Amino acid sequence: MSLVDKLALNKFQVDEGEPHILINYDICKDCHEKYCLLVCPAGLYSEQNGAIIVEWAGCLECGTCLALCKKGALDWKYPRGGFGIIYRQG
Ligand code: SF4
Repeated sequence: MSLVDKLALNKFQVDEGEPHILINYDICKDCHEKYCLLVCPAGLYSEQNGAIIVEWAGCLECGTCLALCKKGALDWKYPRGGFGIIYRQG
């Protein structure tokens, strides 16, 4: 089974009331590297009209974006208990 096939087995319990990743746009707008667009294994970051957005509901909770955001523009925490990704293949 390929990695993509394994990831497709995961389930997400989305916490609509409390996004676990928020972007501080006052900080983000001054970032030129935009590593978040490159490093997310799920490809959740994109740029629209010059602003970075994140589709946090599909987050794998790996923390890579938080580690690579050198400007500190992300308010990142694990989802509340009972929410987030449910891995099916470890
Ligand atoms: Fe992507 Fe990982 Fe950041 Fe989630 S924690 S948005 S999967 S890089």
